[in-house]
Amino acid sequence: MKKLGMAEIAKINRPKLGRQVPLEVFRMLRLVGIRGGLPMGGKSITATVGREIGKNLGCNSLEELLQLLQTYRIGIPSILERSDNHLLIALDDCLVCKGMDNIGEKVCDLEGAIIEGALTAIIGKTVRVTEIKCNCNGDEACVYEVRIY
Ligand SMILES: [Zn+2]
Repeated sequence: MKKLGMAEIAKINRPKLGRQVPLEVFRMLRLVGIRGGLPMGGKSITATVGREIGKNLGCNSLEELLQLLQTYRIGIPSILERSDNHLLIALDDCLVCKGMDNIGEKVCDLEGAIIEGALTAIIGKTVRVTEIKCNCNGDEACVYEVRIY
């Protein structure tokens, strides 16, 4: 199977419909399809998928990763806390959940896994990312706790 990266998928030629799709299309895939259709809310799939995406973003620094999250409109990241082996990253305007009702759940583990995969590739150490806040859990933004081992 041929591996597809950003260079391949960015080749878009849709003269009638163009590059943009409504956010609902992504949320359908992510929340209805993956979360709703797979065992355990698709948790192990989102971890694997997110890490693979993160590894293949081609980022060389944390700053580049944060810029890319914003460029691709995944969200608006900001660093809340930073030390040698620990980070807290907030993601405002999250593409998965911003504006949705509080359902008492955190649903943006895919983005955490993307951050995990990207930082693992950048730092070359074991990185674990956990979503600790989410709009769908009644919080103001999605927040990720990053631990570097
Ligand atoms: Zn979110």
